Amino acid sequence: MISKDHIIKRFISYVTIDTESDPASNSTPSTEKQWDLANKLVDELKSIGMQDVTIDENAYIMATLPSNVEHDVPTIGFISHFDTSPDFTGANVKPQIIEKYDGKDIVLNEAENIVLSPDYFEDLLQYKGQTLITTDGTTLLGADDKAGICEIVSAMEYLIQHPEIKHGTIKVGFTPDEEIGRGAHKFDVEKFGADWAYTMDGSQIGELEYENFNAAGAVVTVKGKSVHPGYAKDKLVNSMYIAQEFINSLPRIETPEHTEDYQGFFHLHNINGNVEETTLKYIIRDHDKKHFDARKEVMLKLTDELNSQYGKEVIITEITDQYFNMKEKIEPVMHIVDIAEEAMKQLDIEPIIKPIRGGTDGSQLSYMGLPCPNIFAGGHNFHGRFEYVPVESIIKATQVICKIAELTAEEN
Ligand SMILES: [Zn+2]
Repeated sequence: MISKDHIIKRFISYVTIDTESDPASNSTPSTEKQWDLANKLVDELKSIGMQDVTIDENAYIMATLPSNVEHDVPTIGFISHFDTSPDFTGANVKPQIIEKYDGKDIVLNEAENIVLSPDYFEDLLQYKGQTLITTDGTTLLGADDKAGICEIVSAMEYLIQHPEIKHGTIKVGFTPDEEIGRGAHKFDVEKFGADWAYTMDGSQIGELEYENFNAAGAVVTVKGKSVHPGYAKDKLVNSMYIAQEFINSLPRIETPEHTEDYQGFFHLHNINGNVEETTLKYIIRDHDKKHFDARKEVMLKLTDELNSQYGKEVIITEITDQYFNMKEKIEPVMHIVDIAEEAMKQLDIEPIIKPIRGGTDGSQLSYMGLPCPNIFAGGHNFHGRFEYVPVESIIKATQVICKIAELTAEEN
């Protein structure tokens, strides 16, 4: 059995180290403080008996657990990120442990009247009787994704201590800067050397994901002409009105606030304008590649139409692809999802397979040649003060890792 106290101690030793990443920084890792946890993890991986523990100049950590069987087994990997979201402070995290959760309100912070309540966060109720780790209401927790790291380290430690469990070569990878979209950027897939991998970065127990958005960003620049308003007849061109036409020509219903599941959207997230120039910033999202391409086409067509309507180039639209749906790369190797699903079933965990309405490091890695579905890490309410994780979910995820290793090594 994996000891609960041991897991709690390990998890807390990670979340109490501030590793907030910073999108404004161009270095890797984006913040110097990420080294604090990275260096500790290197020491820990060595101390539990992992082989070939390396950390590169960008703080990417890799380690190997050698195979303990004679026959050929695919090499699999497990990946997590050690940075936390810049959306909310990760400094001075003071985790609180709620034993045998009674299903009632949890007062995170009496002085500031911050309450984690099942009236609002219904998911809490499925963890009645379990041990929850919460914040003190003033920071995020960092279960995203230090729960994932805790699970991978604990699983490796368990496999090392239990050589009767047969497994192939297992690779471990810990990355910086996932929360600012760069976790996969400097990941050396060739050096990692796995046939496939799993990110341990999902939310509630049971989550298993291999579909995500196709994603692009669009910058629409509208050019106007400023003339003294008193003498502007037939001369002034107000870029803000043209921008408004552009905005209103896109379907109002295909926006984040009106869509769910497999529905895609255009999301206008920034407007900056005056008479002379207005810029609109959009993100475009769709699971379906054809629909995704059609959305980009719609924007470009609209640009052409408005330009011809005004008789000159008043709009320039630049669209940049950001990431793609990993489904395309996973479907040809669907057994890697099946193994994870089977592992959960054998552990009495009900798999929750659903499309991600976002991206993961795994989607980028899948396109870099490392197919990489995403598995639950156990936490809820990421990136904010209400983040929490049930310790039982961390233990289950740890067992899922061990079980996947075992199933992959089975001769068939
Ligand atoms: Zn994460």
